Amino acid sequence: MKTIIIGAGISGLSASRILTQKGHTVTVLDKGRGVGGRMSTRTIDNAKADHGAQYFSVKTLEFQAFISELQSKNITAEWQLAQRENVRYVGAKGMNTIPKSMASGVDVRVNEKVVLIENNIVKTESGNSYPFDNLIVTIPIPQVVDLFQNSNIPFSERDKTVLDSIHYEPCIAVMAVLKEQTQILSGGIILENQPVAWIADNFQKGITETPTVTLHANAEFSEKYFDDDLKRVGEEMLSSVNQYVSSENIVSFQTHRWRFSNATKRYAEPFYQIENQNIFLGGDGFGIGNVEGAFLSGYHLGNEF
Ligand SMILES: Cc1cc2nc3c(=O)[nH]c(=O)nc-3n(C[C@H](O)[C@H](O)[C@H](O)COP(=O)(O)OP(=O)(O)OC[C@H]3O[C@@H](n4cnc5c(N)ncnc54)[C@H](O)[C@@H]3O)c2cc1C
Repeated sequence: MKTIIIGAGISGLSASRILTQKGHTVTVLDKGRGVGGRMSTRTIDNAKADHGAQYFSVKTLEFQAFISELQSKNITAEWQLAQRENVRYVGAKGMNTIPKSMASGVDVRVNEKVVLIENNIVKTESGNSYPFDNLIVTIPIPQVVDLFQNSNIPFSERDKTVLDSIHYEPCIAVMAVLKEQTQILSGGIILENQPVAWIADNFQKGITETPTVTLHANAEFSEKYFDDDLKRVGEEMLSSVNQYVSSENIVSFQTHRWRFSNATKRYAEPFYQIENQNIFLGGDGFGIGNVEGAFLSGYHLGNEF
């Protein structure tokens, strides 16, 4: 049985690891230059900043077993935020070290953007074709809808109800290189009722030797200014948190738009099979959401076959 997985984020990689371990023939395709999707770490000159997922909690036994394995290899580290009681986890050298470690031993092809699904064959922008017996799709649902419409794959009424139940928030992120670390207690702060909802000091977090911060705008601000000039939006976000990140401390900054950040409305089950098709949908739009939910979605998909 040949399985193709679209998306090398944590959900696609989680499914691929289990299937590969079970001896299935699996290929993972991703349009990005590397693996990890929204578990992303950007390098700016010599500095590093996590700019997608910032940390995650562990609620289930399945995810705990996986994180314990990563802890024993020093791939993850604990992070105790001053504002939160339960311990959080991070990639010890950046969030993307987690998906990178998961991709080891798996057939992953990057720079492969899937543009068409036709007659049990996946076609990519580069002109390659990948036949499959089963297809697992772990990209955000609005992108699934576009891909399926381009491929003339029909949705049943039930499929439409499931897909319509999933919604993601946008997020504008700023990564700034600093002269020195901030004084933010424990290296991370959640802010309320202001444009910036989150600041992480990546130096205090332990992922970079050159100090950087990551700012995430709240959903309302991100929605409102999503298509605006990114430099101007970044400047506005930075000036709004001047008390934590002073303008004199900033060396340079970059701004990034995430069209889909967290899946705020999700389908309750960890995955969904398109009616009358050998196509399965997974990712953080299914189950409990976030990094853990995306992992579990792939875990359950991997155990389905
Ligand atoms: C700004 C931000 C902050 C967040 N903060 C947190 C947090 O603090 N804690 C937490 O738990 N979660 C957080 N999240 C959410 C978390 O990152 C996601 O829930 C999780 O990483 C989703 O994993 P996934 O595998 O489902 O999807 P993704 O990581 O999005 O993976 C999907 C992959 O599919 C690829 N792809 C898309 N289209 C195609 C195509 N046509 N062909 C081939 N490949 C394609 C993409 O390149 C991507 O690599 C945050 C997300 C963002 C963006």
